[in-house]
Amino acid sequence: MPEFKALLEGYRRFRTGAYQEQRRRYDALADKGQAPGLLVISCSDSRVDPTRIFDTEPGQMFVVRNVANLVPPCDSDNSQHSTSAAIEYAVTQLKVHHILVLGHARCGGIKASLEGTFDDAPMGEGGFIGRWMSLIAPARDIIRAAAKLSPDIDACSALELAAIRLSIDNLRSFPFVAEAEAAGTLHLQGALFDIAEGVLRVLNHDTGKFETVPMDWENETASLPKSN
Ligand SMILES: [Zn+2]
Repeated sequence: MPEFKALLEGYRRFRTGAYQEQRRRYDALADKGQAPGLLVISCSDSRVDPTRIFDTEPGQMFVVRNVANLVPPCDSDNSQHSTSAAIEYAVTQLKVHHILVLGHARCGGIKASLEGTFDDAPMGEGGFIGRWMSLIAPARDIIRAAAKLSPDIDACSALELAAIRLSIDNLRSFPFVAEAEAAGTLHLQGALFDIAEGVLRVLNHDTGKFETVPMDWENETASLPKSN
C-alpha cells in the first residue's frame, strides 16, 4: 500500500520546504496560539480542500469537514456532536468573524441522498451515512418532486445549493451563533466550489442567489454580496 509511504514523503518535503520557509509563522502560532478569523465547514471530499481553494496560510482558517458539509440543528441531547462542538469552539472560544458553509459540485453525499442509496441501510452498510444525510431529507423530497414535474432540472446541483442554505439556517438554531450574528460580530456565508470549472459561487443574501466570484478585483466590490 503506497499511500502511507507517500504521506511520509510529503511530510519530509514539508519539513524541509514550507515549514522552513514559514518557520517564523509556525513559531508564533506555537507561542501565541491560534486566532483564525473564520470557520469553514466543508465536505470531506478529497478534491475540496478549503485551505487550497482559498490559498490560506496556517493559522488563518478553522476547518470542520464532514460528509456533504452539513450543519445539524442545535440539539442538546447526550449524543456526541462533533460538528456542533467545532462550531461552538469557533464561535465562543476563538470568536471567529465568519462562518462559511462551503459546498461543492458533484458531491457524493448529495447524490446518495437524492438517489436514496443509504436510506434505511443498517449500520456498517451505509447506515451512518443515511442517518447523517437525513438532515436534508425535506429539501431532497421537494427537489425530487420538482424534478419529476420538470425533468430538465439538475436535481443534484439544486440539492447542493439547498443543503448550503439549510445548513446556514441550522447554524442560526445555535443560540450563541444567533446572538453573535445579531450583535454584528459574526457573519454567515455560503459558497459552492465547482471542481470541474474551478469556479467559486458565493451566496448573495440580498438576492438569495449564488453568484460567481469575478476574477478581476475591480468588479468584485460591485458584484460580491455585502459582508453579511
Ligand atoms: Zn461532498
